[in-house]
Amino acid sequence: MATKGQKTEQTTTNTIEKLRNLYRLQLIDSEIDKIKQIRGELPLEVQDLEDEITGLETRLENYENDIAELKKQIETKKQEIKEAELLIKKYTEQQNNVRNNREFESISKEIEFQTLEITLFEKRIKEFTVEVETKQEILDKSKEALNERKQDLSAKQDELEEIIKENQKDIEKLQKQSDELSKKIDSRTLNAYIKIRNNARNGLAVVTVERNACAGCFNLIPPQRQLDIKSGKKVIPCEYCGRILVDKDILEENPPKEVEPEIKPTTKTKKTSKTKK
Ligand SMILES: [Zn+2]
Repeated sequence: MATKGQKTEQTTTNTIEKLRNLYRLQLIDSEIDKIKQIRGELPLEVQDLEDEITGLETRLENYENDIAELKKQIETKKQEIKEAELLIKKYTEQQNNVRNNREFESISKEIEFQTLEITLFEKRIKEFTVEVETKQEILDKSKEALNERKQDLSAKQDELEEIIKENQKDIEKLQKQSDELSKKIDSRTLNAYIKIRNNARNGLAVVTVERNACAGCFNLIPPQRQLDIKSGKKVIPCEYCGRILVDKDILEENPPKEVEPEIKPTTKTKKTSKTKK
């Protein structure tokens, strides 16, 4: 009887320790997953800035084209004024040589018309000039904004690079811990862990019982099964998703880090069995 009891205790301790290591491994691997996920999102911020810059550049180009077009039109109007002035000069000379009043009147009307044309051209030039000034002002401001954005981008790119480098360090550190822990777990269990983890979308192979349910698939776990899980005597998978279930306080009896698993097998189990008896 005593021998049998001792043997069970030993197995229980080993199983608990195995479950603890599995759970620790899961926590570290999840941490790695999280960092990798964050790293994956970071370049999006840079992408957003790049898109914004492209948008600003297109806007600047449009404004530059508009301004160039307006300036061209101003030049055309100036040319037209010159032509009108030449005509007026010509007509004025002609007036000196008219034969009769009617001819004089007719030329006067032409001169009047050209004078009106000049007024109209000047008005247009004024309008275009105001438009050019307005657009130039916006253009200058946009250029400033663009420069700022470009500086932001360059800073962000540096930051991103730094973060990626830093993350890489974190990942390597965690990966080392993960590898160390993996060595403590027998290959059959470890392979099962890896297989479940690869199949699970959230990378969880070892989960706790939360509110009477599997924290992996949220299906309820029967009370008796919960007790079995709590006892840590066996590796118990979730009936629904196959993930390995552990008690959520499983790590509390032993500080999780850097402490060799103490094999002080009997104290707790003995107490339990005593109470049972
Ligand atoms: Zn489950």
